Amino acid sequence: MGDALSRKPYQRKVYWNAPTLTWWERVYLFEIMRGLGITGGVFLRNMWRWMTGRKGALTTYYPEETRADYAAGNRGKHILTQRPDGRPQCIACNMCATVCPAQVIEIDAAFDPEDTAHPKSPSRFEIDYSRCIFCGLCVEACPEDAIRMVKEVPELPSMDRDHMWLKMDELLTWKPQRDVAKPYPPKAGGSA
Ligand code: SF4
Ligand code: SF4
Repeated sequence: MGDALSRKPYQRKVYWNAPTLTWWERVYLFEIMRGLGITGGVFLRNMWRWMTGRKGALTTYYPEETRADYAAGNRGKHILTQRPDGRPQCIACNMCATVCPAQVIEIDAAFDPEDTAHPKSPSRFEIDYSRCIFCGLCVEACPEDAIRMVKEVPELPSMDRDHMWLKMDELLTWKPQRDVAKPYPPKAGGSA
């Protein structure tokens, strides 16, 4: 009780990047007008382009149309990298599933005593895309560079959540020659 009474009142932390508003911004009204001007300008420009037969706003009528101009770093979907013989590089260690904040990765491990270098591999590797938040933490956690995210997006729309699980057949569609960010096999010094 005495300890609670002697405790100092809570003081809010002052951040180094706390915003400082000018008097113009504090009046608020001018900034609202400026925002409306920007939005209205974009709307009218796109409307004019549309009326003159040119492409206006970058609206994609998904899923009938799919965009082709994803940024190189877009976290579109996961892929499992593969060894030169086509098997997944994954060693079914479960670290990605453990770190996943949405807990959407399910892995069943297989064991091959004949393969002394890589005895463990996934017999089932599935990700529930109805709950994945595309944070990329699974990629960061993997010790084998076995899971990556590529810019292409999967065919997600479905009336049934059970159809939104990404399975091994889609995860093993990696095209290393197009993955310029992380060449494979790794350069000398990396693990195969
Ligand atoms: S991107 Fe994030 S939410 Fe999705 S599977 Fe990976 S860790 Fe989980
Ligand atoms: S993808 Fe990486 S982190 Fe996930 S189970 Fe396979 S080796 Fe482990």
